Amino acid sequence: MRDTKLMQMALGLTPPWIVTGSDFDAEAGRIDIQIDFPAGSRFACPACRAADCPVHDTERKSWRHLNFFQHQAYLIARVPRVRCAACGIRTVCVPWARSDSGFTLLFEAMVMTMVAAMPVKAVARMVGEHDTRLWRVLHHYVDDARERLDAADVTRVAIDETAAQRGHNYVTLCVDIDQARVLFATEGKDASTVAAFAGDLIEHGGDPEAVSEVCIDMSPAFIAGARASLPNAHITFDKFHAVKIINEAVDAVRRAEQKRQLLLRGTRYIWLRNPDNLSERQRETLDGLPMRHLKTARAYQIRLAFQDLYDQPTTDAATAYLKQWYFWATHSRLDPMIEAARTIKRHWEGILRWFDSRIANGLIEGINSLVQAAKAKARGYRSMRNLKAMIDLLAGKLDLRLPA
Ligand SMILES: [Zn+2]
Repeated sequence: MRDTKLMQMALGLTPPWIVTGSDFDAEAGRIDIQIDFPAGSRFACPACRAADCPVHDTERKSWRHLNFFQHQAYLIARVPRVRCAACGIRTVCVPWARSDSGFTLLFEAMVMTMVAAMPVKAVARMVGEHDTRLWRVLHHYVDDARERLDAADVTRVAIDETAAQRGHNYVTLCVDIDQARVLFATEGKDASTVAAFAGDLIEHGGDPEAVSEVCIDMSPAFIAGARASLPNAHITFDKFHAVKIINEAVDAVRRAEQKRQLLLRGTRYIWLRNPDNLSERQRETLDGLPMRHLKTARAYQIRLAFQDLYDQPTTDAATAYLKQWYFWATHSRLDPMIEAARTIKRHWEGILRWFDSRIANGLIEGINSLVQAAKAKARGYRSMRNLKAMIDLLAGKLDLRLPA
């Protein structure tokens, strides 16, 4: 068997395409495989599929292919433009690559597999390509798969924000709770964010009016957005955000008290944790404090009591419990706690909705870890668009249809 024949079979070329030769440059670590077609060959029109169009002229192109052993491999071919009676002059589609790509389909499939597992920059270094070229491949497959995304059955949604990079720029994630996938990731956080999500839902066969439950934090932007764009959705306020508000109030009490009470120095993290999660040393420190005389300790008890709300067996029990808690917190004479309790009061219904919906953004923790991974893999991603594409790739459960 001649080596051109072997190459042709290995590449899976079909007539009229044939391998005509190869050039191996050991020093450059590169092999060029020449592909051509016999004179007089005819091709289908890429636009209307009409068969047997005559060749008008050709243009030489090359594509990076999977490595040949340790060497970079390129396919080189004259790509014909055909003369179609209906469409005029058209460039034919070669079977081994997408039009406009400088990579073969198999190379792209390899890149897509690699970028799902390691940072794009690292992949770029490994394959010896500039990362902007790899990002272009990634965007193509993600955009293409997102067009096929089916959101018809979406009824329960969690909306949460995540910092894109060191506290700057936020990305809002809209998650399909039942299928545990990110449906929509977008920059920023305001009422129009939810409207944009609703628009995207419609584009993918979903119905914003069919969304019956939504979990959000207590930010006015999300509340206004959810009411306007998801009109039939019951709002559940994420319990982790609710606890966080109380926790911040505890910390405010501690900061103020610490100015006069030196015993509190270095205890910040003790109050932010739950008793079960304290280290032995933290436990000892806590036990050694004059708890009954500390405002911080009282604030801490109020926070622990708020967390116990979520152990109440029924909505009725929870409602009664929350009323008692509110009375206690607002009579604590601790301003930050009173203020936090009033915030809870203003969001009463959505806090208690949890007892019916049982949804929390903590449910999407698995997704959050994927999003953190996306940030790491997109390191140096330069643009929000790159980060969003990486989130879609890792957390969107997309049907990528990679060439095999
Ligand atoms: Zn045509």
